[in-house]
Amino acid sequence: MSKTLKARTTAVHGGTRRSQYGEMSEAIFLTQGFVYETAEAAEARFIEAGEDEFIYARYGNPTVRMFEDRIAQIEGAEDAFACASGMAAVSGALTALLKAGDHVVSARALFGSCIYVLEEVLGRYGVEVTFVDGTDLDQWRAAIRPETKLVFFETVSNPTLEVTDLKAVADLAHAAGALVVVDNVFATPVFSEAVAQGADLVVYSATKHIDGQGRTLGGVILGSKELIRGKIEAYMKHTGAAMSPFTAWVLLKGLETLDLRVRAQAANAAAVAEAIEGHAALARVLYPGLKSHPQHDLALAQMGGSGGTMVAIDLKGGKEAAFRFLNALQVALISNNLGDAKTIVTHPATTTHQRLSDEQKATLGITPGLIRISLGIEDGEDLVADILQALDAAL
Ligand SMILES: *Cc1c(COP(=O)(O)O)cnc(C)c1O
Repeated sequence: MSKTLKARTTAVHGGTRRSQYGEMSEAIFLTQGFVYETAEAAEARFIEAGEDEFIYARYGNPTVRMFEDRIAQIEGAEDAFACASGMAAVSGALTALLKAGDHVVSARALFGSCIYVLEEVLGRYGVEVTFVDGTDLDQWRAAIRPETKLVFFETVSNPTLEVTDLKAVADLAHAAGALVVVDNVFATPVFSEAVAQGADLVVYSATKHIDGQGRTLGGVILGSKELIRGKIEAYMKHTGAAMSPFTAWVLLKGLETLDLRVRAQAANAAAVAEAIEGHAALARVLYPGLKSHPQHDLALAQMGGSGGTMVAIDLKGGKEAAFRFLNALQVALISNNLGDAKTIVTHPATTTHQRLSDEQKATLGITPGLIRISLGIEDGEDLVADILQALDAAL
């Protein structure tokens, strides 16, 4: 497929491998192994497998390869490695590249399981991690040192929607010879320009917008052919967090509609953020697309002019008001996933971030009144009405 096609076209056609039957919809190759015509062919394939030659599904599979090729084309990355979940992608990317004695600088506002991997797992294997406020370039500058091998951050943080300046941090990291690994879930492949902005590896939980319909777990690591088919593939294929061919097929179908869904979600996020800003029940509305967001200009420059699909709100009345709000919603669903076609509301302090100490919660801005809203693709007027009536109920 020509590299000049735009993302909305490659999202539909990219990576397709048709069998001799010429099927319209991508085939699900539910097979763990492959048969060789001769002993010589088996030997040759183990010496070097060609583009369309597979050995074992833990290493690669035609349906999984279609997903990898398609998302790489959408992201503008040379290659991709698909894995069982977003956390398999994050932990795989980090452990594949690091060894005892290495130093890592990470933003401190992270998805809970990422904090566990960086603090507990890497720590246990002798990797030193320095945590910084991801929005403060001076802290990055002070923390990155000659033995820093890698920097890690969410381009837009969960759940408080802080934006890290990817280009500026990548420049600092590259000057020290460190690799830049970003968890890009909140930006989504639709609004991402992460490779052009300096990311060496871009990681997605495909569980979120890429599936976007609540069906499956998945993850993917994207980057240069050298990194992906070198250290990343070697580590991933031997440690076992492979993506199942069925999951890859679900996600291929997800990619076909990703652009439509994510743009509809972002339009709903903007409409809701604008409609509720200033409501008497709210201490603040956090949405990168609002002028009031502290990094509004950076967010738009970094995410192709969009504020994204997520909104966070902080209710003045704390936990009681937050729970009244949640329980009054009639369309939005209480859950902890995000990026779904259905609008989902989460109270981080009592669910996703419950285990953090009060001090950690305070540092990360996870107040008792904070609610994360992942906008779905429902009618925007219905969502605005639902959220406004629930805010009234929270007063
Ligand atoms: C969900 C999520 C992950 C983990 O993905 P899973 O598919 O649940 O393993 C990692 N980072 C971010 C930012 C996420 O939102």
